[in-house]
Amino acid sequence: MKNLNSLTLAAVAAASFAWAGCSSSKTPTTSDTASTTTTATTTTTAAPVVKGVGLDPANIDTSVDPCDNFFQYASGTWLKNNPIPAAESRWSSWNGLINQNEAVMRQILQDAAANTSAPKGSNLQKVGDFYASAMDSAAIDAAGLKPLQPELNRIAAIKDLKGLQASLARQQMLRTRSVFGAGVAQDRKISTQYAVYLSQGGLTLPDRDYYLKEDGRSKTIRTAYMTYLTNMFKLLGDNEATAAKNANTVMRLETRLAKASKDRVAMRDPYANYNKMTVAEANKQFPNMNVPGLLQQLGVGSAKEVIVGQPEFLKEASTALKSEPLADWKTYLRWHVVSSVADALPKSFNDESFRFTQVLTGAKEQQPRWKRMLRATDGALGEAFGQLYVDKAFTPETKEKAMEMVNNIREAMSEHIKQLDWMSAATKTEAQKKLDAFVVKIGYPDKWKDYSALDISRDSYVQNVLNARQWDYKYNVSKFGKPIDRGEWGMTPPTVNAYYNSSLNEIVFPAGIMQPPFFDPKADDAVNYGGMGAVIGHEITHGFDDRGRQSDAEGNLRDWWTKEDAEKFTQRADMVGAQYSAFSPLDSVFVNGKLTMGENLADFGGLNIAFTALQKQLKKKYPNGDVPKYDGFTPEQRFFLSWAQIWRTNARPEYLRQQVLTDSHSPAQYRTNGPLMNMPQFYEAFGCKEDAKMVRAQNQRARIW
Ligand SMILES: [Zn+2]
Repeated sequence: MKNLNSLTLAAVAAASFAWAGCSSSKTPTTSDTASTTTTATTTTTAAPVVKGVGLDPANIDTSVDPCDNFFQYASGTWLKNNPIPAAESRWSSWNGLINQNEAVMRQILQDAAANTSAPKGSNLQKVGDFYASAMDSAAIDAAGLKPLQPELNRIAAIKDLKGLQASLARQQMLRTRSVFGAGVAQDRKISTQYAVYLSQGGLTLPDRDYYLKEDGRSKTIRTAYMTYLTNMFKLLGDNEATAAKNANTVMRLETRLAKASKDRVAMRDPYANYNKMTVAEANKQFPNMNVPGLLQQLGVGSAKEVIVGQPEFLKEASTALKSEPLADWKTYLRWHVVSSVADALPKSFNDESFRFTQVLTGAKEQQPRWKRMLRATDGALGEAFGQLYVDKAFTPETKEKAMEMVNNIREAMSEHIKQLDWMSAATKTEAQKKLDAFVVKIGYPDKWKDYSALDISRDSYVQNVLNARQWDYKYNVSKFGKPIDRGEWGMTPPTVNAYYNSSLNEIVFPAGIMQPPFFDPKADDAVNYGGMGAVIGHEITHGFDDRGRQSDAEGNLRDWWTKEDAEKFTQRADMVGAQYSAFSPLDSVFVNGKLTMGENLADFGGLNIAFTALQKQLKKKYPNGDVPKYDGFTPEQRFFLSWAQIWRTNARPEYLRQQVLTDSHSPAQYRTNGPLMNMPQFYEAFGCKEDAKMVRAQNQRARIW
């Protein structure tokens, strides 16, 4: 493998010189790959180019001016040569890493499944049995609905409102998204204790708008959903007419809940979605929910207060529980149980589920079974599986290097805060305090979750899924009344992602993301700071984005800003919001600058501080300023090329439409270009002139951190 790699890299390096020359002179060229390569080979003899690691210059489209559209320039050739596979709704460098990662994970799972002598009750036994039962589609088909029958019987036996309330609690424990959400998390205003939260929920479609809007796309999705509902009810044994009637019932109830739901932008306001009240008060406001009984059944009966996310929604839900016919609610519950485990049921069920997913995402084929079941295993037994994964795929050296980068980027953020000309000293002191208090987690948890109370066997996959969900629910509610578990992780170790958690004021980087293209121990600093470094900067900046800035060093919602500074911040953030709202990935489809605000600010701030950290790193390494070029690119150019590399993405139009409606992250081309259009560091790196498309006019240029 090593030899093959170095051969490929050598060829790439030889070809890159011409591209590098082209990029700095910015002359668009139409020469094809063959002739470019020939020229490059000739030139290389005269002035050898040092080949680099971590970037592949062959992905660049030299016919595009980097100052015109950096996304297209940096990845245009890759985008052309990497169409979206039939089973995917988008295809990006993330998918490449995820594919490699999943190959490692698959091997672990296959070995675990083949091992039938693992001690009963061990993590290895549970992981092996879960995956083996998931892959045994013959047994799943043969079992039919039998393993689900006790739950279906429970619903059929509901006779009155009291029975409905008890069943709604049961549905919570089975994590079937029925009517509302109930769970335990840190109190957002008293982060040293846990609180019980009640929130809106109960929808099947990915957003309330799909139920309510009259545009063609929303109608198409509703029609497909009706077909999905009808076919699933038929599979449950209903005749044609009953199935159609039941489909209408679910659609009607969910539409009622959708109307009462807040939209995603309104959900971003932490104060408006924090309404603490006594259990007695909640019981009065939502009389048909039997809140005391619900809490009792969920295992948090000792709670005196609840934090209600959306009181208006719960009022409407409470009213509907009584005003809608009981038989209709039973139909709704039946639907939510079955659809929540569609992938664990016989093939006919998951075929229907996929047919519907296709309309949402545009995927042409279903993902292979092993991939779906691998992800299900990661979801159900994340930290048991994760232990096996990190043994194979993560080293202490990687952790050490990541920690060094985090420290450097945190230091850069600190300097940026000090130098801000728009923020007062008082707010700066608070910001610095918050930054100093950041907790950093890298790789995997110090203390793993204990799965000993979870029963997993090879008997029934659906049963395993339901057992895992109940275990997970109990794990969540058992935290109530206990000291805060500060070691807990919200992502599993193999996950290719990262997060900021405001309640614990922490930034977390699972082992999965510490790999190329994000991080490569063999690559130069520029590539690692433009990839992993920008990700670290992104998560740090989340602590100071439009939402993150509302919580303090202790993780409490508290306003630590002077009024004037808050206004200045908001003005600057609004400028970024307006920039993104003007981005349009498809005809008449626009990014929602308000929904994506936090992520856009995190990208922008993250790149700025990672860039500064890189400059400091280069000064340290090359004090005389003699910084080497790789592949013909300066470190500054490689930094931005690395950023573009992690976001190179082909996406289906269906996926893009759903993304702008439901995802707080902007489409990849705007994540790439959006921040750079505000960054003089970028203009300078590529010699962009004032009138270039990637250069915003002085008075249109945002500057925050
Ligand atoms: Zn983010």
